[in-house]
Amino acid sequence: MQEIIRQYGVSDRRVLEAMAGVDRAEFAGEENKSRAYEDTALPIGHDQWISQPYTVARMLELLIFNFQFSIFNSKVLEIGTGSGWQTALLAKLFKRVYSIEIVPELARLAEMRIEKSDLRNVKIKIGDGKEGWKKYAPYEAIICGADAEEVPGAWMEQLAAGGRIVTPVRGVMTRVTKIRNPKNFKTEKFENYVFVPLV
Ligand code: SAH
Repeated sequence: MQEIIRQYGVSDRRVLEAMAGVDRAEFAGEENKSRAYEDTALPIGHDQWISQPYTVARMLELLIFNFQFSIFNSKVLEIGTGSGWQTALLAKLFKRVYSIEIVPELARLAEMRIEKSDLRNVKIKIGDGKEGWKKYAPYEAIICGADAEEVPGAWMEQLAAGGRIVTPVRGVMTRVTKIRNPKNFKTEKFENYVFVPLV
């Protein structure tokens, strides 16, 4: 898995180590086990997919490369828990992970897998991620695994000053940074991807 990611030019050691430290087969579901190490998205039911490894690595890199905070002391909000695989990777990188999934069955399965993986710094809730998760805000980082029409206002509000949001917006990988001073936002656009929609 590390090799595949490296071939794409993702070189952040922390991302590569996290990828090596989480077994994707544990999250891909029984029917996908034999294909868990392929660089492709795989179906996990409910019309949803475990993300392609390269895409996840790229998003993590965009999130933490030259980050203004120490990730080990930071909180991340994830929207679209899905299989829980990316959640587990985030748990290896960040101090605390808060993850929201709208499909209850997926949220429950992901929670079980996270527990089985002995990751104790993750909270998952069933709900609409567009509203964020006010209770634990502000977050230094917010990452979304579904294609948004626009970046929801709640995410901007719940982002710490200096923090970052990484999400696809209408098919374009987008990074929004909350500038410390003055208090406004910087938006950067990256490559095109195909994601399931943020509903
Ligand atoms: N990164 C995940 C896959 C994410 S797929 C993995 O590797 O497994 C996108 C997920 O976003 C799906 O599980 C979908 O149900 C969820 N989703 C879509 N709209 C949502 C919303 N409004 N709030 C929370 N989750 C949402």
